[in-house]
Amino acid sequence: MLRLLFTINLTILSLLPSMSFAHSNLEEPNLYWASITAETKEKRTELVNQGFSIETIVEDTSYGFANQEILDSLKLQGFDVKAEFPAAEFIRPQDFPNNDSVYHNYAELTDELRKLVAQYPKLAHMDTIGKTLEGREMWVVRINPNVDSTFEQSGTPGIVFMGGHHAREHLSVEIPLLMLTHLLKNYNVDQTITNLINTRDIYFIPQVNADGSEYDIESGSYRHWRKNRKQNDARCFGVDLNRNYSFQWGTGGSSTNPCSDVFMGAAPFSEPETQAIKLFVETRPNLKILLSFHTFSELILYPWGHKYDSISDARDLGAYEKMATTMARWNKYTPQQASDLYIASGDTTDWSYGTLGIFSFTFELSPRNMWGGGGFYPGPGAIQTTFNANLKPVLYLIDLADDPHRAVTAPETTLFFRDQVTKL
Ligand SMILES: [Zn+2]
Repeated sequence: MLRLLFTINLTILSLLPSMSFAHSNLEEPNLYWASITAETKEKRTELVNQGFSIETIVEDTSYGFANQEILDSLKLQGFDVKAEFPAAEFIRPQDFPNNDSVYHNYAELTDELRKLVAQYPKLAHMDTIGKTLEGREMWVVRINPNVDSTFEQSGTPGIVFMGGHHAREHLSVEIPLLMLTHLLKNYNVDQTITNLINTRDIYFIPQVNADGSEYDIESGSYRHWRKNRKQNDARCFGVDLNRNYSFQWGTGGSSTNPCSDVFMGAAPFSEPETQAIKLFVETRPNLKILLSFHTFSELILYPWGHKYDSISDARDLGAYEKMATTMARWNKYTPQQASDLYIASGDTTDWSYGTLGIFSFTFELSPRNMWGGGGFYPGPGAIQTTFNANLKPVLYLIDLADDPHRAVTAPETTLFFRDQVTKL
């Protein structure tokens, strides 16, 4: 049904260029979906700088969200805003509990994690890394048979997977949950996975932004919410958590407008959610790789996001490129430096690589685009196929946590090497 609606709405969009719609009755009446011509990454960055949240790019057109004021301002500056559509019209009521009931809300995720950990008490440890603004727990599950808790220090190579920075990206919560489940179920079943678990320190934080995620679904209709639930002023809520990290914070590709979908926050690490991630990562010096799941577009992104220049350390850059292209063979995503799309400063991966040297990736999961794929709400069928596509990349990264440079210096020692050299 959702696919059909997207198709219909896009048809309407293309038929009614630059038509404006009256506000609807949604709680966020001012949010619009728009398409704007921007032929280069520099022009796309300019759009984001002014508060337009780009969600997908097709040739010379960027599609995304902004409020009416931002769109009006862009038009005044001569940007070709080809079409705009209230988000409320664009996204018809979708029922998370019914149509998408396999997706986990906060309570269901909490239950599921508790059950899993209870099932594998010697392997898995669960704790909270902090509370969200509204007081929900930010759960972490650690897979490590050689420690007794989540916080015991480990000398073994560490890796952390995160999901759900952005509220409406529900698939990015399901994938780390499924990966975690798969690893536990295959301990002492699958030799590769058993070896990895015995020699690595593996963490999952599947839902960074539980407040936003709950807000997105609580009415029974998707709200297309992205940010956390900070009240910025009398009118506007939410900080974009993936623009709130400190490294080169506020240097482009984010907005000072508290109503923008890419609002950077009042200060770096102003939000409890990003503070909790900061503390978690900084207190685990054995972490060597970080993967933050987002949706959508099917991309494998690596630093930098805050500038167009590539990483200056040639050895690191070589490893990033090799890892990204290798993983792309398996999931068929597009590997690239994040800023090849447009500038985005204050994200998780620039921070974790820029300040701590942790090899950090963002996966933009399925679908590839809005059309035919469902955008942020791809339906229950996307969960298993996205998991299948990303299992090898995830195992490959876990293996490389001892030394990511091994991807280049000794590729024959990395997982699935035969796949890497043969035609798939
Ligand atoms: Zn995202």
